[in-house]
Amino acid sequence: MTDPRRDLPRTDVVLADPRLVAAATAVGRDRVKQAVAERLAALRADPPTRAPDPAAVATDVLAALPPSGTSLRRVVNATGVVLHTNLGRAPLSPIAVRAVEQAAGFVDVEYDLVEGRRAPRGRGTLAALRRAVTAAGDVHVVNNGAAALLLATTALAAGREVVVSRGELVEIGDGFRLPDLITSTGARLREVGTTNRVTLDDYAAAIGPDTGCVLKVHPSNFRITGFTRSVGVEALSSLPAPVVADVGSGLLAPDPLLPDEPDVTSALRAGAAVVTCSGDKLLGGPQAGLLFGTAAVVQRLRRHPLARALRVDKLTLAAIEATLASPTPTHVSLHRDADELRRRCEELAAELRDRGVAGAEVVPSDGVVGGGGGPGVVLPGWAVAVDRSMAAPLRAGTPPVIGRVERGRCLLDLRCVAPDDDAAVADAVAAVGGR
Ligand SMILES: *Cc1c(COP(=O)(O)O)cnc(C)c1O
Repeated sequence: MTDPRRDLPRTDVVLADPRLVAAATAVGRDRVKQAVAERLAALRADPPTRAPDPAAVATDVLAALPPSGTSLRRVVNATGVVLHTNLGRAPLSPIAVRAVEQAAGFVDVEYDLVEGRRAPRGRGTLAALRRAVTAAGDVHVVNNGAAALLLATTALAAGREVVVSRGELVEIGDGFRLPDLITSTGARLREVGTTNRVTLDDYAAAIGPDTGCVLKVHPSNFRITGFTRSVGVEALSSLPAPVVADVGSGLLAPDPLLPDEPDVTSALRAGAAVVTCSGDKLLGGPQAGLLFGTAAVVQRLRRHPLARALRVDKLTLAAIEATLASPTPTHVSLHRDADELRRRCEELAAELRDRGVAGAEVVPSDGVVGGGGGPGVVLPGWAVAVDRSMAAPLRAGTPPVIGRVERGRCLLDLRCVAPDDDAAVADAVAAVGGR
């Protein structure tokens, strides 16, 4: 009797398998080596009766390796939710993707190539943002929308009061609440009005020597209707305190499709001293927080010690600038023509029936903005409905296709699917439920 453990192939022999050599260029040599070591250790711990040959071990290792250096998987968003926080919010435009790749190496992010010395960080991106929002005197970029709000309220009101309506003290998701965020760096909240109603007089009565700023937050993920009243930025700007307006979603100018969604330009024109928003919501860019305002106030924000802790990297700066250059996938998904969606759905359903997917049919499907924007806005469109039992196997496929289970069926809404991906969706569904 020989011990099968002694006949196991050696690590370097398995690693020499051409398929693993190729995999190393995609996921890294160390990652492949580790996977081989893990596989051999498992075989030693639980030896089969006959030791596998090197090729068989390599096959097992390949199956266990991720397809690239990141464990993040590309997924197809067939949910009809344009900004799905769990799916990474806004997908970058192809131009932004190329910009990120270019910025990955050494770049002149903070360097003047003519003079050969330090230059203002991200100046090209800031110039592009100023061109996009001419109502702003200046602009600053931080990590995300929450960071933008934190910086604005800290710089203007640390040790003092932030006057804000009770109806706007919102939770932004995953248990994070704006009031906790604002008070975490030492500003105090001065709440005015009630949950459903607040007047300009309420604000005026709260303003005094201790006031740092007035805060106006767009309740972006819910809507209160009925007996309600709120005060707009324009009226608030008549008060003797700077107004910080958190518009949330990052619309730079009004969009007729989203009439109730506040935008940066309008808030500045209405007199806000600072307007904050996210980069990866309706702006359609990378995760970031943008602060627009008068030159003096933005300069103050930029010089605040907290600004250094909230600084963005070169990849983000590159992606933001490129995002401004063309309509984003987010914009395209929001504005998709319903008839065009229906035509694509009919083609997909017909192909699926041809390939033996029983019961695939076109049904009306309302898309939503999602991710903190346009609450209550309905985006009429179409989807292909398949059996609900297919939802889980579709999520497990390559690429995973994420549908929406509704009315007892799995709806595949093509609003957020690039037309180039329709064939991949057809293949994924046919692989799961076809003949
Ligand atoms: C989304 C949102 C935030 C938080 O922005 P992040 O980019 O997610 O940090 C803050 N305020 C409002 C009004 C929002 O809609």
